[in-house]
Amino acid sequence: MGAPFTVEHRDAATRGRAGTLRLAHGEVRTPAFVPLATRGAVRGLLPREVAGVGYEMVLGNTYHLLLDPGPDVIARHGGLHGFMGWSRPIITDSGGFQVFSMGHGSVADEIKGRRRPGGDDGSVLAIEEEGVRFRSYFDGAERMLSPESSMAVQAALGSDVALAFDECTPFHVSREYTEGSTERTHRWLERCLSWHGEHGPPDQLLFGIVQGGVYEDLRRDSARRVATSGCPGVAIGGSLGRDKAQMREVVGWATDELSRHADAAPRHLLGVGEVDDLVQGVELGVDLFDCAVPTRLARHGMALVPEPDRRWRTDLTKADSRDSLEPVLPGCRCEACAGGYSRAYLRHLIRARELTGMRLLTVHNLTFIADVMADLRAALAAGRLAETAAALRSGAAPVGPAAGSR
Ligand SMILES: [Zn+2]
Repeated sequence: MGAPFTVEHRDAATRGRAGTLRLAHGEVRTPAFVPLATRGAVRGLLPREVAGVGYEMVLGNTYHLLLDPGPDVIARHGGLHGFMGWSRPIITDSGGFQVFSMGHGSVADEIKGRRRPGGDDGSVLAIEEEGVRFRSYFDGAERMLSPESSMAVQAALGSDVALAFDECTPFHVSREYTEGSTERTHRWLERCLSWHGEHGPPDQLLFGIVQGGVYEDLRRDSARRVATSGCPGVAIGGSLGRDKAQMREVVGWATDELSRHADAAPRHLLGVGEVDDLVQGVELGVDLFDCAVPTRLARHGMALVPEPDRRWRTDLTKADSRDSLEPVLPGCRCEACAGGYSRAYLRHLIRARELTGMRLLTVHNLTFIADVMADLRAALAAGRLAETAAALRSGAAPVGPAAGSR
């Protein structure tokens, strides 16, 4: 494979850029949002529905798929693509985030958007240089996840992009802990690269992960180390701080170093997907995002709407939707809005726990985010990122593919 990533447009005023990521199962136009297919499905949707909304890549979860049904079952289907019937690119995480969420307990939810609601009923037994020993929530058995075993599982899943095994440090831990943990993550990256170089699928890309918590010197050092490690792509993980202002700083340190030392490598910001965070991330030079928020909100009756004062969401289960004959968002191209379903109907379905309601809201929320990303790509191509970012931030509805990006 040639260079996997080409930057085609750059914003003059920010680090924003648009490009194309070429992977074994197809191309991904960036900046892009990547929906979660945690257990081998974007919950409630068929692959053709996810593709129909406009998504070119989904994210599968190594930890959950390792425990159940197990990589052997998935490998017999030719990998995760064959197992779930998705023919476009797939990125898999390393399993580290889920394992360490158990170890760090309830504080893990400080890492916005990267925690599964309800958590997992397992426990970490020991964090060692070799890897992490934990008890499976699935059958209670003691398991080990290490750089090598995470790489082996991701090889069996056959994802287009594998993520290196890292420790996701939460916000509350000390600088000393963050420093030691980040150093270990760098040593684990070397082991991932070594295993992957010898045994990994030749057409699978390995992305290293930048850690370093909220400490500028640690973040910058980690970004430099990962950028110069030889990985074809870089993910940014761990605690991004207590609020959006700190997130801007922390991500900015990382992308500043990455643009100096590995500008041609695609950058994935892990666990970020709220509308204002996507706009900000694009300005900071992020190419890929994933997040549970759009799909999780849908399952709880929350629809994404262009209302910054309400964090771009409205709760359809509230009484004010009871008599509304309006769609969630007039002009939205999604099956729920263009299909003419009223807020009152959606409210009724959600309250009655009808799966149809969850599906319609999931399609709407994923369409909303896809259209935000399409607008940002079109703006980068046209040299007007500042105007589009300002419009989205002030509550303009995303235009989507009609903006001419596809
Ligand atoms: Zn809609």
